[in-house]
Amino acid sequence: MTDLTKLTLAEARDGLVAKKFSATELTQAFIKAIDAANPHLNAYVLTTPEHALAQAKTSDERLAKGEARPLEGLPIGNKDLFCTYGIRTTACSRILDDFKPRYEATVGQNLWDAGAVMLGKLNNDEFAMGSSNETSAFGPVVNPWRRTRGGKVDNTKLVPGGSSGGSSAAVSANLCLGATATDTGGSIRQPAALTGTVGIKPTYGRCSRWGIVAFASSLDQAGPIAKTVRDSAIMLRHMAGYDPKDSTCVDMPVPNYEAEVARGVKGLRVGVPKEYRVDGMSAEVDALWQKGIAWLKDAGATIHDISLPHTKYALPAYYIVAPAECSSNLARYDGVRYGLRVPGKDLIDTYEATREAGFGKEVKRRVLIGTYVLSAGYYDAYYLKAQKVRTLIKRDFDNAWSDVDVVLTPTTPSPAFGFGEKAGDPIAMYLEDIFTVTVNMAGLPGISVPAGLSGEGTPMGLQLIGKPFDEGTLFRAAQVIENAAGRFPVPERWWA
Ligand code: GLN
Repeated sequence: MTDLTKLTLAEARDGLVAKKFSATELTQAFIKAIDAANPHLNAYVLTTPEHALAQAKTSDERLAKGEARPLEGLPIGNKDLFCTYGIRTTACSRILDDFKPRYEATVGQNLWDAGAVMLGKLNNDEFAMGSSNETSAFGPVVNPWRRTRGGKVDNTKLVPGGSSGGSSAAVSANLCLGATATDTGGSIRQPAALTGTVGIKPTYGRCSRWGIVAFASSLDQAGPIAKTVRDSAIMLRHMAGYDPKDSTCVDMPVPNYEAEVARGVKGLRVGVPKEYRVDGMSAEVDALWQKGIAWLKDAGATIHDISLPHTKYALPAYYIVAPAECSSNLARYDGVRYGLRVPGKDLIDTYEATREAGFGKEVKRRVLIGTYVLSAGYYDAYYLKAQKVRTLIKRDFDNAWSDVDVVLTPTTPSPAFGFGEKAGDPIAMYLEDIFTVTVNMAGLPGISVPAGLSGEGTPMGLQLIGKPFDEGTLFRAAQVIENAAGRFPVPERWWA
C-alpha cells in the first residue's frame, strides 16, 4: 500500500469513503510515523494511540454503515493549549504539570463530533508565548526542513516557528493530516510560513475560545494548520461556530469554505500596503511578495497601493496589550487550583515558590511587563495608550476596505532560523511578528500560504488579510497562490 501519511486531508477523506483503506489503517500509519519521527522532531508532547484507535474503530463502523460524518476517521494533532477531557493538558508549562482537565475545548469537541481522530497533543511555546517553540517546558521542536548552504545540506537544527511549532512541524512532516493551533500575534501564520504549510487565523469571534488555555483573551483565536488551502478550509469549517460558553464568540452561520477555494479571484481588489516594506526587508522576501502580486493579477485580480499608516505602532502596542492580559490571565496559577504546587511556609510563600518553579523565563518576563503597565501609576501612560493605538490600527483597515477586498503581504521577515539564533534577544524574536500582529490587533482574519523556497531551500509564505468574517475570500485568493506556486515539495525524511 502507498504511504497513507502522504495524503492530504481531502484525499484521505475521499479514500475512506471509497473504502480504499480503513480509518484504523490510516490511524496506524500515523502512529507508526510519529513513533519513528518524534524522538528527532519532538512535535508531540503526548501521544494517545489507544484513544486514537478507539475513535478510528467507531469511524470504521460508521463508514461501513454509510453514516460518515464530515471528518470521519481523519487523524489530526491537537495543540497542547486545547483542554482535552481526562487527557493531560499543560500549555507546555511546568506549572500545569500533569493537569487533566474535566472538560473538552469547544473547538476540539466540534472536531471529534465531526468524526476526527486525535493522535495526541502537540508541542508549543509555553502558554503560546514565543515565535520559535524554544520556550516550551518539553524542549524545542525541530523543523523538518533543513537548509542548503554551498550546495550541501546544513545540519543546523532550524526552528519550526511558534508558538504552534508542534502543529506546523507535525503537519509538514506528515505526522497528522492537519492540526489545531492558536494565534495571538502570529502563532498560526508564522509557523505555517516557516514549514511550508497553510495556516489561517480566523476573525476574532469565529471560533470559540472556551477550553483553550488563555494567553491574551482579546487577541487569542483558534485555527487550523494544514497541508493545503482546501484542507485548511475543510478543517476551519468544522472548528468554527457559535458557542454560548464564550461571550465573544459570534452567532453567525459558518459557510462551506471548501466551496470557495475554486472560485478564483477575477475582479477581486488586492491591496498592497506600503508600510509593510519595512527597513531591512530581505530582497528574497520582497521578490516573493512581487511574485504573489503578479500571480493574483494574472488570475484576474486588480492590484492597488494602499496605506495603513499606523502599522509601525502595532508591535510596540501588542507588547503592552498581550503582556497585560497575560499577567491577568496567568494570576490563576497559584499552586492551589491547578497543576504544580511547591509548598511554602505560608500561603503567599506557596504562591511565590510555585510560580518561581513553574513558569519559564519568557513567561515571567511577560508577567512582569504586564503587571507594570497595568499598575495604577502607569495604566494611562501604557495600557490605555496602547488600546488607543489599537483603535487606530483597526481604523486603518476599515478605511482600506472601501478600496480593496483583501490585503497581500509577506508572512514573516525571514525564513526559518537556527536554534538559539534569536532566543537570547527578545526584541529580535518579537520582530518575527511584524507582519502578523496588526491582524490580531484589528481582529481580522489572516492566512499564510506557502509561496516559494528561499535561496537556502527553506519555505517562505505570503499572508492574505481579509475583512471581518470574510474568510471565504481568503481561501479563494490563497488557492490561486497555491496553484501558481506549484506543488510544494515536502521535506526529505532525514529522520527515518
Ligand atoms: N510571537 C508572539 C508572542 O510571542 C505571538 C504568539 C502567539 O500568537 N501566540 O507573543
